[in-house]
Amino acid sequence: MKDLLEMAIQFHGHKCPAMPLGLRAGLVALKKLGVERAKNKELFCFVETGNAHATMCFVDGVQFSTGCTYGKSNIEKLNYSKNALTLIDVKGKKAVRVAINPEFQKDSLNSEFVKMRKSGIEPQDISAEIVEPLIEKIMTLPEEKIFKISDVFEYEFKGEKGTFEWYECEKCGEIVFAHGVRIKEGKKVCIPCSKI
Ligand SMILES: [Zn+2]
Ligand SMILES: [Zn+2]
Repeated sequence: MKDLLEMAIQFHGHKCPAMPLGLRAGLVALKKLGVERAKNKELFCFVETGNAHATMCFVDGVQFSTGCTYGKSNIEKLNYSKNALTLIDVKGKKAVRVAINPEFQKDSLNSEFVKMRKSGIEPQDISAEIVEPLIEKIMTLPEEKIFKISDVFEYEFKGEKGTFEWYECEKCGEIVFAHGVRIKEGKKVCIPCSKI
């Protein structure tokens, strides 16, 4: 657990409470579904965060613990501006939703850390004495204190199969996969070249 947290902080870039919240939310979801971190696309995750609010760091923690990553494209942001996730076991056709317990989140949003962030201080400039107890709490409190965890429910997920079909753009010569090919003046070109 400690190693996982340390590695996640390295990946994320700074110490903050929201990333560990996502990390733990992901672990809780894996446990509830009885599955392991995704090696490829066995799992799919919807995260409810948006693009411009506090606590967006949540998503990095979720990626780290679930293995649902933007690279593998088995994660999608719903842009609800909320901190919750739905983790889907694709083969098992079941899912679980994990949200932050509102009481816990209200306390967190009143913390010294969030006040400092709101006043414009960068997370990496906030002292360890302020941030570390918050992280400790998130990693050790009983999960039901921090999260609202749904029952496991049935979920049929149909993902798109990744294509291996590729072309050489007839304009720039770069490789482009099938979905990105456009026809311009009778030539197979990539999207940027199709706009010139
Ligand atoms: Zn962060
Ligand atoms: Zn091109």
